[in-house]
Amino acid sequence: MKRPKVCFDRILPKDLQKPIPGIIIDLPQARAAGIEPRTRMAFVNKKKWVNGTVLRVKFLGGTSGQQDTVKKFAAEWSQYGNISFDFGNSPEAEIRIAFEDDGSWSYIGTDCLSIPRNTHTMNFGWLDQGVVLHEFGHALGMIHEHQNPLGGIKWNKAKVYEDLGGSPNFWDKATVDNNMFKTYDKNQINGTKLDKESIMLYAIPREWTLDGFSSTENDDLSPVDKTFIGDTSNYPLTDKTKGPVELPLSSKSTMANIGKPGEEDLYTFTVAKQGKYLAKTTGSTDVLMNLYGPDSQTRLIDQDNDSGYMLNAKIVTELLPGKYFIQIRHFNRLNGTGKYGISVYKKRSLFG
Ligand SMILES: [Zn+2]
Repeated sequence: MKRPKVCFDRILPKDLQKPIPGIIIDLPQARAAGIEPRTRMAFVNKKKWVNGTVLRVKFLGGTSGQQDTVKKFAAEWSQYGNISFDFGNSPEAEIRIAFEDDGSWSYIGTDCLSIPRNTHTMNFGWLDQGVVLHEFGHALGMIHEHQNPLGGIKWNKAKVYEDLGGSPNFWDKATVDNNMFKTYDKNQINGTKLDKESIMLYAIPREWTLDGFSSTENDDLSPVDKTFIGDTSNYPLTDKTKGPVELPLSSKSTMANIGKPGEEDLYTFTVAKQGKYLAKTTGSTDVLMNLYGPDSQTRLIDQDNDSGYMLNAKIVTELLPGKYFIQIRHFNRLNGTGKYGISVYKKRSLFG
């Protein structure tokens, strides 16, 4: 039997963990309200990037052949979701790739931002279409399909310990527990049924399960993968044509509407003069606001939920000249919709 090649999750060390922008959906609450998420596969909600982000990628080593293989296959995600990659080796790159003899793995989504700049966030111990799509799936915020809490695989644990304890993985029991049997908290993920064809699912031999479940190695994005990446609550392509809405610096609100649950609105504004600025929403819709910049959609400045009037968001902060981005979403991603107003302007100082 061919020994399975398995990728393992890189979990952020505790000392590097810090609040990451995003919302944890409350699945039990949603179920009680009779709402079932429509999506499949599993995303860690709070680790997703802003829709439309161009993630910068830097290679820390590798031959030009290896680098070209990564570039060629990773780009497929951008056909189905509004997220893309800039392989320009920027010194500020969010995704940093090495080709060390250390298995294949990646940190998940925005966890990459907490890793020191001189360290890689993704590794390729072997290289083919399947593993490139899989590791970039992690980098976009996806977890392993077999760790989907709604998957329900009945494991033959003794056999899994035995196989993964040997070559080429040499995993100890704790590593197997963490990467194979541990499922995510239902509240943290966005997904439903297990998709056997998902690029995020390992090849699981029949001997590893007690209920007859097995899967083969997937080298392509499954139909569900393709639909799910572009789902409203993930990286919807519909926004691609729209682009961010330009906000004038004015205390007068621009009116907007979150029409579909999970929808996110993106705004941009330009600061010419350094100073204290105020961004806020108005209306009765419970929204969450993230502010990014300057000149970056991944550098989070501040996040707010309820500092404004009633359930409105408000951020007051000192800004340098540059281009800024505001992301607005409903606090309840599962069923929250509604109209709101948004404005951003320079605060007048009493002391000039
Ligand atoms: Zn993996």
